[in-house]
Formats: sequence, structure tokens, C-alpha cells
Amino acid sequence: MAATGIPFLEGRYSPTLDIWPIEAKEFNRIYKFYENLREGKFTTTKCKKCGRVAYPPRVICPECYSDELEWIELPKKGKVAVVVEKWGGVPICYEPPLIDAWIDLGEDSPVKHILSRMINCPPETLKEGDEVQLAVFDVPAHPIELRKETIRAERVFFAFEPVKK
Ligand SMILES: [Zn+2]
Repeated sequence: MAATGIPFLEGRYSPTLDIWPIEAKEFNRIYKFYENLREGKFTTTKCKKCGRVAYPPRVICPECYSDELEWIELPKKGKVAVVVEKWGGVPICYEPPLIDAWIDLGEDSPVKHILSRMINCPPETLKEGDEVQLAVFDVPAHPIELRKETIRAERVFFAFEPVKK
């Protein structure tokens, strides 16, 4: 019996940082984000009308309200700008610390900074300027109701990890 309602993966998956609901393709118009992740691509949406790039991905442009958006790729590597280790107030099921970083994706990236959960990094080792990369992992399938049937929503999620030297 793996379905607890809150999927977690050996402490690596943080529902508190997952801003997208756990939904199937049938419900979720940014599902492409997950499909792209599964292919190892880190993507977001860009408005075809005004060119505004939004992160996290949207279904409607926050600038001009157009729904004509396209998917663009973001860099999969960046540098740590700020790191935060949360030792207190950690959600149930997690061992502290939870490590988050504000990551600089570089001048050429359409999105300059993102906030991400950090994995594969021991406490008190990550510092400003460290190179980090995208890490994609499976999230345990989550049962959801769909047209009176229970289906299992397969999904992946991401974090960042230090680049091995
Ligand atoms: Zn727009």
C-alpha cells in the first residue's frame, strides 16, 4: 500500500515545492512540462503574441492574457546564488535539512533565476557559486479519480544537484 496521498521519494520529493497539482494529462494543460522533463528537457512557456517568458509555465500569458503559448527550453545547468537549509518546520515524512537554492541560470537564459530543491548534496556543503544541474526522477504513481474510474497518474519531477567534479 504505497498510496498515502502525499507522494514522496526517499525524502527527495518535496510536495511543498511542487507548485503544480498532481494531476493527469486529462486535467492539466501544462502536462507537457512533465513530458519534457521525462525526456530530460527543462522547459517553460513563452507567449507567441508578446514574447513574455513565464516561469513556472502558464496556460495564459501573465502580460497580455493570450493563450497562444509555446514551449521553450531552459538551461539545465546553473550556479548557486543563495542556498537555504531548513532544519526546522520540515514537512512530515522528511528528514531535515531540506535544502533549497536560488539558482542563476545565466545571462543568456530567458529565465535568469529559479528556486529549486537540491538533492544529492550533504548538509553544509553547497555554497554560492557552485555549479548545479537538473536532476529528474520518478514520482510514485498517484491514484486519482477520472470519470468515476481510478487511474494512476504517472509523473516525474525535478530538483537540482551539484555537478560532480
Ligand atoms: Zn503575452
